[in-house]
Amino acid sequence: MRNALGVILAGVVSVVVITAVWFWTYSPRVALAAPDTVSARQAARLSATGSAKPARALADEIEVTAAISAKSSATTASTIAASTTTASTAVPSAPVPATPVQPKTACANPDALGVSRVVEIDTTGGPGFGFEHFKQFDFLADKEVVLTFDDGPWPVNTPAVLKALADECTKAVFFPIGKHATYHPAILRQVAAAGHTVGAHTWSHANLNSKKISEQQAKDEVEKGFSAVKLALGAAPSPFFRFPELQHGPAAMAYLGTRNVAIFSCDLDSFDFRAKDAAQIVNTVMTKLDKSGKGIILMHDFQKHTAEALPTLLGRLKAGGYKVVQMRAKAALQTLAEYDEGLVKDMKLPTASTRPLGNVVQTVSQ
Ligand SMILES: [Zn+2]
Repeated sequence: MRNALGVILAGVVSVVVITAVWFWTYSPRVALAAPDTVSARQAARLSATGSAKPARALADEIEVTAAISAKSSATTASTIAASTTTASTAVPSAPVPATPVQPKTACANPDALGVSRVVEIDTTGGPGFGFEHFKQFDFLADKEVVLTFDDGPWPVNTPAVLKALADECTKAVFFPIGKHATYHPAILRQVAAAGHTVGAHTWSHANLNSKKISEQQAKDEVEKGFSAVKLALGAAPSPFFRFPELQHGPAAMAYLGTRNVAIFSCDLDSFDFRAKDAAQIVNTVMTKLDKSGKGIILMHDFQKHTAEALPTLLGRLKAGGYKVVQMRAKAALQTLAEYDEGLVKDMKLPTASTRPLGNVVQTVSQ
């Protein structure tokens, strides 16, 4: 018995000793591990919120935009669709998105007007927008506006318009004149770089509804205008077109349909080109808007008074509870090679060089 007890005791003692040794060697690690875990957890939590939060916020923004857009597409034709992703669904023949989807960058202005939603337009068949002429696609909700600017790019005025839009972190659609795009390609590139949608507005601002214009001339005005924008941007424009003076020539309308180019009229015209000052533009737009409640607004980045009016106008839109919707094309326009090449030849350019004058010619002595 005693021997048995001794064996048991020895066993117990050795277990205790082993446990003590294990504890002695292990417990410091536990002691170290505890603060490690705490501090590591804190650090991990910080970095987790630091990295995961923006991702979640981005996802939330995508969901919100998609939800709003889904609502819009439910109330309109399939021409207008939700747009939050790159054009993964672009048609095989034109896989390039018309306006690259840019990540939502932080807006420095906490009270900015911003962009409430983005709609993507499937331009197949040449849908028309703007209730002055086209009433099929009523996609704007009450208090929603689309900002559009024609006739640029132009020095001073277009950059001033871009600054006013950037200050309010909002986006617009631009319809540049082809000739102007060849005069000031760098300014047009600024428009595109700021994330605005860029369509076209003919080559020379010709009235395509004039009896003096043949069908071929109308086609040339349309195609040369788009090719000039492409030459200036170094990228294909959106298949968005606005007729000069909103003169919708039937032949040109039919042609644009075959080219799958959306046609833009407007819901309200600012008549900024004949306004005597900036205040008159603000008053005209706000008076019409308060009556109609929403709409595509036609302005001109070419006009000095418009550039001057824009900061006030955007402030009034925000104060009035209006929200800006950006229109984007599902896919970029494929310009016609003959017009791209013809334009380069016309301009007597050996290449499509767009180097600014200052880079090519410099005064070194006077
Ligand atoms: Zn115009």
